[in-house]
Amino acid sequence: MDLTFSPADEELRAEARAWLAAHVPRVPLPSLETAAGFAAHRAWEAELAADHWSVVSWPRRYGGRDAGLLGWLLFEEEYWAAGAPGRVGQNGTDLLAPTLLAHGTPEQCARVLPPMASGEVVWAQAWSEPEAGSDLASLSSRAVRADGGWLLSGQKTWSSRAAFADRAFGLFRSDPGAERPHQGLTYLMFDLRARGVTVRPIGRLDGRPAFAELFLDEVFVPDGDVIGEPGQGWRIAMSTAGNERGLTLRSPGRFLAAAHRLVALWRARGCPEHARERVADAVIGARAYRLFTYAAASRFLAGDRLGPETSMNKVFWSELDLALHETALDLLGPEGEAAEGAWAQGYVFALAGPVYAGTNEIQRDIIAERLLGLPKGRR
Ligand SMILES: Cc1cc2nc3c(=O)[nH]c(=O)nc-3n(C[C@H](O)[C@H](O)[C@H](O)COP(=O)(O)OP(=O)(O)OC[C@H]3O[C@@H](n4cnc5c(N)ncnc54)[C@H](O)[C@@H]3O)c2cc1C
Repeated sequence: MDLTFSPADEELRAEARAWLAAHVPRVPLPSLETAAGFAAHRAWEAELAADHWSVVSWPRRYGGRDAGLLGWLLFEEEYWAAGAPGRVGQNGTDLLAPTLLAHGTPEQCARVLPPMASGEVVWAQAWSEPEAGSDLASLSSRAVRADGGWLLSGQKTWSSRAAFADRAFGLFRSDPGAERPHQGLTYLMFDLRARGVTVRPIGRLDGRPAFAELFLDEVFVPDGDVIGEPGQGWRIAMSTAGNERGLTLRSPGRFLAAAHRLVALWRARGCPEHARERVADAVIGARAYRLFTYAAASRFLAGDRLGPETSMNKVFWSELDLALHETALDLLGPEGEAAEGAWAQGYVFALAGPVYAGTNEIQRDIIAERLLGLPKGRR
């Protein structure tokens, strides 16, 4: 692996740093899990997009900078170091967009990607169902053929951002007679305000509606909103899941910035001896994660497909995030309990890391079976 960056990459880094220094809001935006916060974050996406910073790795014609994967990783380091706001459009930009770029039609890319880049259309991921989480292939929401499109019915759950988002993408069973549960699934995009959709927000630990359940009753979706071939949804969805776990969901910049904030907090508290090792571990972990991610990116850019090693990434960053926040709360003592504090809020979110994007128990099974060659566990 060659870790020297090209002059173009370094130029991008310097340009991003200068732009962020001039534009990052001085006062943190309200939580994006509230209506007002969602609107403020949408406006921030528009500000980023106006100067082509919202999706740096995408082609220019869709709003990006053609900066590629390495450019994106460098940009993310600058972004989080600058203390910039969390990204409200992440489900779309990091999950749906790579899927569309790989499997969508040129018409779909031209129609869907620019308003996604600008935050005008914010997307939710509608995969999980009450009886289909870890075992996603057991999903039962249906897509039934209709004139010029499909009618969607069923229930989706734990859909992040869906309380305030505009559209969603998900998997639906279009051939209930298929031999195996992974077959006969279709990947579709739909409007959260379409007739037949009921969005019911679900409160989080902090009471905010981070998620929603979606109830679908014969929601019409035109053929143009099917991604890939009908019946091929599983294969297409798995390319999204690989992206999510392996590279795009949690960039190392986020953890490097948090580890540096933790060091600053430790120093501000007089460098207490009892926390020294845990603070050092957080910095080492964040740097190790950075190297691991750059290694994966190099392999990907050299034409390799990302495989089961993405599960190691997922387990690593989710545990790092938890350890980092727990150390910060220990350093803060009773003060850390204040629910509005950034570390307390970050901790509540970190608690969910081992669950979303595929639970860590499942990732460990994948590591055991596919990377270590251990026998299959009893299911
Ligand atoms: C913060 C957050 C955001 C989310 N956002 C979204 C979203 O935007 N869109 C979306 O579609 N979903 C989302 N989810 C849902 C998430 O993907 C599921 O919660 C996850 O896949 C687990 O499914 P489940 O909740 O049904 O748990 P289950 O699958 O019922 O699992 C329960 C427990 O059993 C364990 N388990 C299950 N099967 C096995 C097995 N075979 N071997 C070993 N252990 C097993 C699991 O690891 C887990 O500990 C989100 C979840 C969280 C927490």
